Amino acid sequence: MREVDSPRAKATVRQTKLQQLLVEIRACTACASELPHGPRPVLRAASTARVLIVGQAPGRKVHDTGIPWNDPSGDLLREWLQIDRDTFYDERRIAIAPAGFCYPGKGRSGDLPPRPECAPRWHPRLVPLLPRLSLTLLVGAYAHDYYLGERRKASLTDTVRARAEYLPAFFPLPHPSPRNRRWLRDRPWFAEQVLPELRERFQAAFSPALKPLRAKT
Ligand code: SF4
Repeated sequence: MREVDSPRAKATVRQTKLQQLLVEIRACTACASELPHGPRPVLRAASTARVLIVGQAPGRKVHDTGIPWNDPSGDLLREWLQIDRDTFYDERRIAIAPAGFCYPGKGRSGDLPPRPECAPRWHPRLVPLLPRLSLTLLVGAYAHDYYLGERRKASLTDTVRARAEYLPAFFPLPHPSPRNRRWLRDRPWFAEQVLPELRERFQAAFSPALKPLRAKT
């Protein structure tokens, strides 16, 4: 086998391509005129990642800090997964790429939706550079829409209930935003049935190649 064909050489090429793509994304201004706070793409990835988390779009705090899920939604998502921040932000294991990479600003009833041009522009180039993915968490309706398309059900609740249809590749979830706490409260089956399954699938995604993730204490 020639050196350039070895698995290690291929992995290096892939990581280099991914780094180049991340530089390109972070310089993106494609919809700058629609972004009241300007472009600041927030995502992270390494070619070794086993899990991809697709949320909606950064909120104001994430935009200000540049750290994805650095807000109460992120705290609840980490609780769902039972992992600490260090594990969550280990991009060698977990890639984070929302449906829209930049903060879209506020509308009359909360943050505006992700910019519609973002996911089709970047996700088809990003995902092939993450060849070790074994699970993609689709967090919220915008992620369901983009990744499941016509396969999604009439409501987010029905899509979450029908998760077996999308597994093992995709695990659809509601968004853990404080605005959705009532949804969670009114659907105890989510905590009783979905979360244990989510944790099991999530941990299994890292097995056996990586050491077990550190559990949240
Ligand atoms: S939202 Fe997406 S398409 Fe728009 S500027 Fe940011 S990275 Fe580019």
